[in-house]
Amino acid sequence: MRSDLPTVPLEAGAGPDNPPCPVCGEPLFVWVDLPVDTGLAHRCEACGLGVMGKTGTTADAIADLERDAGEDGVVVFENKASLQSFVTGGAWSGLGTDHAYRFTPESILRLIATRDQVLAETRWMPGKGILSMWQSGINMFTFGHNLALGAFGKAVATPARKPWRESLDLFITVVLAVPSMLFAIPIELIGGLFRRGGAYRVRFKVL
Ligand SMILES: [Zn+2]
Repeated sequence: MRSDLPTVPLEAGAGPDNPPCPVCGEPLFVWVDLPVDTGLAHRCEACGLGVMGKTGTTADAIADLERDAGEDGVVVFENKASLQSFVTGGAWSGLGTDHAYRFTPESILRLIATRDQVLAETRWMPGKGILSMWQSGINMFTFGHNLALGAFGKAVATPARKPWRESLDLFITVVLAVPSMLFAIPIELIGGLFRRGGAYRVRFKVL
C-alpha cells in the first residue's frame, strides 16, 4: 500500500450520489456486493451505518432503531460491525430484515447522542448471534437468503427465483445445517469476546 497518496477527506465525496449519513453527516457510499435484491444501498465509512434504499433523516434512523423496542425501552440490533458480518460479507443474515438501516455500536452511540442520551446497558446475545452466523454460513452456498431463519419468522427470507434453485437451496440447507453450526459457535464466541458479536440488546438513558 502506498503511503504517499494524499488522503482525501470523506466530505470530498458529498454529492447527489453520496447523500449525507443520517447519523454522522458524512457522505454515504454505494454499498456493493449485496446478494439480496434491495435496490440501491449505501453505507457510511465513518460510523458504519448501512442504508437500504433511500436514506432519510436522523429522526427516521432513530425511529427505525426503536421500531421494535420493548416497553422497557430495550432495543435489539444485529451488529453490522460484527465479526460474522465481516467474515460472511454479502451472505450475512443481518442484511435480510425489513428495517431500512443496519446499525453498528458506533452509529447507535452517535445517534442517541443527538438527543443527549448514552448507553445505560449493553448485553451481548450469543444465542441469537450464533443462529445468525449459522444462517450466514448457509447463505454463502444458497441462491436464496435466510431460508431457514425466515421459515421460523426469525429473519426476512429472500427465496431463489427459480423452482429448481429453491429445491437445491433446501437440499443445501439440510446438508450444511450441522457443519455450519460447527463454524458458527466459535466465530460468534470469538466475536463476542472482542466486542464484535452478532447481536446486542441495548438500553438508553438521558445524560
Ligand atoms: Zn455515518
